[in-house]
Amino acid sequence: MTSTLDRTSDTTSGSPLDPALVARLAGLVTAAEGRATQSSYSPFDGALIGDVPTCTPEDVDEAVRRARTAQVRWAARPVAERCRILLRFHDLLLAEQKQVLDVTQVETGKARHNAFEELADAAMTARYYAHSAPRHLKATRRQGAVPGLTKTVEHHHPKGVVGVISPWNYPLTLAVSDAVPALLAGNAVVLKPDAQTPFTALIAVELLVRAGLPRELFQVVTGAGPELGPPMIERVDYLMFTGSTRTGRIIAEQCARRLIGFSAELGGKNPMLVLADCDLDKTVEGAVRACFSNSGQLCISVERMYIEDAVYDRFVPAFVDRVQRMRIGSGLGWEPEMGSLVSKAQLDVVRRHVDDAVAKGARVLTGGRPRPDLGALFYEPTVLEGVSDGMELMRDETFGPVVAVSRVRDADEAVERANDTCYGLNASIWSSAKRGAEIAPRIQAGTVNVNEGYAAAWASHDSPMGGMKDSGVGRRHGREGILKYCESQTVAVQRLLPVGPIPGMALERYAKVMTVAARALKKTPFVT
Ligand code: NAD
Repeated sequence: MTSTLDRTSDTTSGSPLDPALVARLAGLVTAAEGRATQSSYSPFDGALIGDVPTCTPEDVDEAVRRARTAQVRWAARPVAERCRILLRFHDLLLAEQKQVLDVTQVETGKARHNAFEELADAAMTARYYAHSAPRHLKATRRQGAVPGLTKTVEHHHPKGVVGVISPWNYPLTLAVSDAVPALLAGNAVVLKPDAQTPFTALIAVELLVRAGLPRELFQVVTGAGPELGPPMIERVDYLMFTGSTRTGRIIAEQCARRLIGFSAELGGKNPMLVLADCDLDKTVEGAVRACFSNSGQLCISVERMYIEDAVYDRFVPAFVDRVQRMRIGSGLGWEPEMGSLVSKAQLDVVRRHVDDAVAKGARVLTGGRPRPDLGALFYEPTVLEGVSDGMELMRDETFGPVVAVSRVRDADEAVERANDTCYGLNASIWSSAKRGAEIAPRIQAGTVNVNEGYAAAWASHDSPMGGMKDSGVGRRHGREGILKYCESQTVAVQRLLPVGPIPGMALERYAKVMTVAARALKKTPFVT
């Protein structure tokens, strides 16, 4: 590694948060007096951040009860009023960004620009849904059973109480951005953030309340997922889950038993295709962002690269050179491009995957080791060549700053290898815009970015985002991302004639009339 890494090793270490803020945020958790507490520590330097209650199933019960009561009054308020509150939340997020970014960084160890990325995403999601919810939710006239005689209207009612279980990697946006459409649709929310990152979720909830959201409408319970997940699923009307595929399967079974809807945003092993006609400089920069944002702890980040033979020998050295010049460091400044991993468990997975691949013959082109001189949980951005099936790194999600590069004959082989996985979350293609857009639909992934790593599709909030295959069920964003929190209802008003034989008509005659009508309707252009 170059000395650039060492130059950032002396940046300011992560500071503990203001104790008054920590106490205020912990006070937002719904927990009975005297509950045991659990502490969170900063990945930067191991400093104690603060304690939150270890909630119990009884606390979950109380949180859902409060949420249910508050939801009735909330659903009675006009959509436009709910939207105004979410737009104030958007403004508050931007105005209070210094404090929000500090909390997010101290709790996750991520670089400041990655913390900003999720703050901006939460603000943009709030803006998008606050502007579009009235359109998505409004009662809509539909084609009736008998044209001219049946007036049919589709309504969207809130489900009631929506449970949200969120992970630690983007603890701000993944805690609130899926809750925003649920709230706008007239639901209450009970959130269980990851045990490692409660304060980031809580500061967002505090801003929602400051923006005017009724305090009881957004409940938070803190503690271990396996303890609080089952009682939550027993009580809520819909569950939004973001996390690993393993946990997603457990939750899917529990939701199925209660016959409640759920949406799951799960893991990925996302491919990047570098084709011969790409812009080399832009591709190198894009690859660094795609692979190492949030130290690779991003569900949509790239872990496999398939590079067309004609460009491999120019792209790989340029990419490796750029990775070696990445600025890594801890602290609350804007300088580091990449921060820490979140936990020892995460560091262990990264080490295990790299060591296993190297032991089985992979070559380290750069990186490949922890950096305890920067912080106990730092790992170098790593590029590996010669990775093959049979290595853990090739099949399983690493969720760290590691990417495997492979040479492919042509675009067809790149597509084939990109699709050779049980996952289907995100993909990235670097080529001419036209060729990239033509190849994209052949990739089995919920989002495909052309000449961008992940941000173009993710931030297209008007369009659905989610996983194919083992990467998820359902979608967030766009129309699907709000209507999943609604019960759709069809109200059909029949006029003049019944949908059946008119009184006195023989049944056989009725069947003949209907047969003639069906043939005529098929030829009528405005009837679908
Ligand atoms: P995880 O599944 O272990 O935990 C996620 C959440 O689920 C946490 O809040 C945890 O407490 C809770 N949980 C754990 N076990 C539970 C159980 N039995 N019942 C109910 N809740 C339970 O995931 P993780 O490893 O902490 O997070 C990283 C994973 O999340 C990666 O696989 C990543 O790809 C995925 N992820 C996906 C997206 C997406 O949008 N598709 C976004 C971020 C992260």
